[in-house]
Amino acid sequence: MATKTIKVSEKYAWKWYEKFYFMSISLGMFVTLKHFIKSAFLRQQVTVSYPEERKPLSSRFRGLHRHKRDEEGRERCTACYCCQWVCPADAIHIEAAAVKPEEQHLYREDKYAKVFNVDLLRCIFCGLCEEACPKGAIYLDGGIPMPDDSRDRLILTKEMMMEPTGGKIIGERL
Ligand code: SF4
Ligand code: SF4
Repeated sequence: MATKTIKVSEKYAWKWYEKFYFMSISLGMFVTLKHFIKSAFLRQQVTVSYPEERKPLSSRFRGLHRHKRDEEGRERCTACYCCQWVCPADAIHIEAAAVKPEEQHLYREDKYAKVFNVDLLRCIFCGLCEEACPKGAIYLDGGIPMPDDSRDRLILTKEMMMEPTGGKIIGERL
């Protein structure tokens, strides 16, 4: 049986006029000029004075990561590594530890996440960690990611993400 060869290179080859970038450059210049005229002459502000002023969030917006506790106040995360494995951005770092007998009231099983970091500089807020978690331990329902001038402060630790004790569910966005 004869097979049909698809020439992918031809299908996606650049058109001759695309190589001059004129269209893209002209379009970009037009948008810049439009906003310049609006703000300089028509007094129509095209930006907001963040953080004093904030635009409404999209209904699909995901917030920062939160770690949940169960109704008895124990940490839900059992350091199974599912979220770390599934994360496409390699943003999660977990170090597991064994629960000591005197710590059993703090954790649900015999293993817990001693270290659980989320690197916000890598995270793409895809929500896969939330979907993959079999323990309902991690949710993206926290506050809005804040701009910062320190890389260290953009790495969330477990302590920063953990909800307060008492089984209180933090479902609201800041
Ligand atoms: S939201 Fe996506 S990218 Fe961010 S930590 Fe979770 S799985 Fe990784
Ligand atoms: S947050 Fe959930 S998926 Fe990630 S290590 Fe903990 S229990 Fe496993």
